[in-house]
Amino acid sequence: MKATIQLDRPIGAHSLPFTSTDYVSGTVHLILHRDDAVSRITLELSGTLHSCVVAVATNPLDGTLEAVDSHKLFEKCLTIFPPRDIPISPKGFSLSKGTRAFPFQIRLPILSTCHSTKDWIAHCNTTLPPSFKVQVQNNVARSEMKYYLKVKIERPGRFRPDITELQELKFTPLDPSLPPPMLRSFHSKGSRYLSQQPVGASTSLSRTTVPRLDSRMVTLEATLPSPAIIYTKGSLPLKVSAVVEQGATHLTPPIWLYTLYVILRTELTVTVGPNSTTWPVLHELINVSGLDTELQNEPPVELNDDLWKDCVVPDVTPSFTTCTHMQQHFLVVTGGFSYGDNGPIQTIKTTINIDIHSGMKPAPNLTDGGEWEQAMDSEQLPFIPWRLGSERHLGILGRSSSMSRRTPPPVYY
Ligand SMILES: [Zn+2]
Repeated sequence: MKATIQLDRPIGAHSLPFTSTDYVSGTVHLILHRDDAVSRITLELSGTLHSCVVAVATNPLDGTLEAVDSHKLFEKCLTIFPPRDIPISPKGFSLSKGTRAFPFQIRLPILSTCHSTKDWIAHCNTTLPPSFKVQVQNNVARSEMKYYLKVKIERPGRFRPDITELQELKFTPLDPSLPPPMLRSFHSKGSRYLSQQPVGASTSLSRTTVPRLDSRMVTLEATLPSPAIIYTKGSLPLKVSAVVEQGATHLTPPIWLYTLYVILRTELTVTVGPNSTTWPVLHELINVSGLDTELQNEPPVELNDDLWKDCVVPDVTPSFTTCTHMQQHFLVVTGGFSYGDNGPIQTIKTTINIDIHSGMKPAPNLTDGGEWEQAMDSEQLPFIPWRLGSERHLGILGRSSSMSRRTPPPVYY
């Protein structure tokens, strides 16, 4: 006896992933090489987050310990045989030799509905995370989110093991339903005193450095439209400007902006019990030099954003939060400045905490008779809660009470 799962949608490496509210539909084929008995056929759709971090060793002689966790974020079950109106028989149902087809349809939820008895976990029933797999160098941490469809053929009698078949599904959640854009854009500033002397001492200066007679305050400002969200495979709607404080005399050489370096910094924090690890991944977005831009006292000089018009945001895993994981993103903008046209380069850095969204849309469904098109027409897409941890930097502070950890999750499919 053998079972196979055939999905109605292609699931190859280049196929669209499944998303929240999508129906997973297809057919389970049961191949019987001879007449046999079956008690029940069930289908389980689930998502599990496996993680492993280096644990704190209470005894130094223990060497490296690993803390491992496997967290089932949701599970939906469906009986596809026998039909609902036929009670399950302890002796099973006799099926004759041949192949039988059992069509099914099961819908992906929006939120996780996990619960376990591990007391170190404060379960947050947040939006399901995307499929991903990460591994830190030297194996100090690894983490993987997997979605599965599993069919189980239960057979009567003690000595006839159940038959199972697994099908992995790629999943990317729908983006959160966000409040309307804030009135003001999102700014982030970094300032420091730029010293004319000594040459080459740029890295020893900080923004708290006491101003010297020959130093002037320079401010680098990065701006994103509000809310501060950028889309994978999209453009970078960044504005960068710089200004120098007043007070220059005709003897002070002008300050120039020479270089601009922007990276996307992704931080994944994984918590297993009392052990937590955060590791960054960096992607270079903009690296330009030879800008030769002379700064003024006022107004700030804005860089021409044509300089990064060809920049494409990499296809990184979108921001998400679960009970044990948080994936955050930051834009780190660094300008290189100097006095005159050949002075030493001194850097100023500013960082914006952003969310990355995938721009994922529900796939047109083969089985819902055009429901998706109607939903698009009437703009009745489901409400997707924003990510826990986004409230402050997206400017939605104070509207998060509906997603309290103690509140049971709303019913989403
Ligand atoms: Zn949980």
